[in-house]
Amino acid sequence: MGRTDEVRVRIAPAPTGHMHLGNARTALFNWLFARHHGGKFIVRIDDTDLERSSEEAVKAILDALRWLGMDWDEGPEVGGPYGPYIQSQRLDIYREYAKKLVEGGKAYYCYCTKEELDAMREEARKRGRPFKYPGKCRNLTPEERERFEREGRRPTIRLNVEAAWGSREGKIVVHDLVLGDVEFDVKEFDDFIIMKSNGMPVYNFATVVDDYLMRITHVIRASEHLSNTPKQILIYKALGVEPPKFAHVPMVLGSSKGEKLSKRHGAVAVEWYRDQGYLPEAMINFLARLGWSYDDKEEIFTVEELIEKFDLDRVGRSGSVFDINKLNWLNKQYIMMMPLSKRTDAVIPFLERAGLIKREEITPEKRRWLEKIVEAVGDRMTTLADIVDYTYFFFTDEFEYSEEGLRKWLSKEGVPEMLEEVKELLAGVEPFERGEIERALRGYVEGKGLKAIRVFQPIRVAITGKTVGPGLFETIELLGRERTLGRLERAIRFLKGRTENP
Ligand code: GLU
Repeated sequence: MGRTDEVRVRIAPAPTGHMHLGNARTALFNWLFARHHGGKFIVRIDDTDLERSSEEAVKAILDALRWLGMDWDEGPEVGGPYGPYIQSQRLDIYREYAKKLVEGGKAYYCYCTKEELDAMREEARKRGRPFKYPGKCRNLTPEERERFEREGRRPTIRLNVEAAWGSREGKIVVHDLVLGDVEFDVKEFDDFIIMKSNGMPVYNFATVVDDYLMRITHVIRASEHLSNTPKQILIYKALGVEPPKFAHVPMVLGSSKGEKLSKRHGAVAVEWYRDQGYLPEAMINFLARLGWSYDDKEEIFTVEELIEKFDLDRVGRSGSVFDINKLNWLNKQYIMMMPLSKRTDAVIPFLERAGLIKREEITPEKRRWLEKIVEAVGDRMTTLADIVDYTYFFFTDEFEYSEEGLRKWLSKEGVPEMLEEVKELLAGVEPFERGEIERALRGYVEGKGLKAIRVFQPIRVAITGKTVGPGLFETIELLGRERTLGRLERAIRFLKGRTENP
């Protein structure tokens, strides 16, 4: 069993879809907090909504955590002393605790039907009041209960707020580590349901029972849950146990107008970013800065630095806006920081997925060539997936000339003749290396008294199809003599064919 002073934090994702960036950010704050304090990070699956939960979604969440490098000390797959860590496997535990509360007078069975409750709600609406359950079943006699049972009514269990709190008056104070003290009036709360009539716990109840049994010391979650916290405090009171410390972290916003980040603002699934070729290190760095700052200067933090520096006192109170440009900038930096060999490893899956290479066909020689290509791309990639756009012409001869390349550079007078001369020239360059290639081409430009761009751009379009890309001389060297000459020839034929047969 854990030491009593040990920090224990958890995330409790609902497996109803992919891992949302906001959840990943909250997970990261928990993980960093645990690692900073040498504590435990626990994953608990909040799947009491059985209809919306799925195995695939559990897997997606765990995969996303793994990809981001957030290892968990207790939870699915790894187990732990306070398991099971999947709420649907803990139903007996919630039922037992609910029963205990009923026996202690802190909760009661409620037999009101949906129709009866709807009628009460309607009544409240007519009077312009918010609906609060009036406690109709709070003091049922055993006979009344028996009658309802005989009628076949399935009861819910409601918390007896007055009994839990000890009075109908007073303030429930959340001593929040980020927001400071936040007060709620006990009067605001009715006897809310903790167990549904189908025997399932509600979120607030299952959460409290688990946070208590799993010895959670700090609940760090998004501020949208702040309104749940007083209810949870009431449940702790009813159970007669100390609540953990709370920290409500600001929401990740989709725009400066204050809405929560959603699909309308761009991709929200962590998996999407992985598939697009964002690096986990860049994502971590980016997510950490959504709500936390060290000072105004530093932008780039390694995971080790984050663990060392992260604490709740530097988490801000206001929401932070998701800014893809910032992520793109960071990702670019992280790609550039990767040693060439690692960067090459990282782009191979993307080239493979595009059908440009087959991993099993990468000989040592081809590997060296690949590294040179990646080197030639230099700092142009924003995501690893960009490799395809920048380099596909190295892997296939099947490409078209871009509309701009054709219009601006290839379709100019004298270009076929010029390409013919360049072809002759390159046929004789020895050795076929970038330095020699450059010398030959610059000599040609000078001899003709032309502007360099008027020679280099048509060549580029002829051999790559595009107007932008890695350095021209490197590109020529990496394509090799044969393919370069073949492509120049193809462009010449194409251009001549067009002029002869418009
Ligand atoms: N399932 C809830 C969520 O993912 C858990 C909230 C909590 O941490 O208590 O938002």
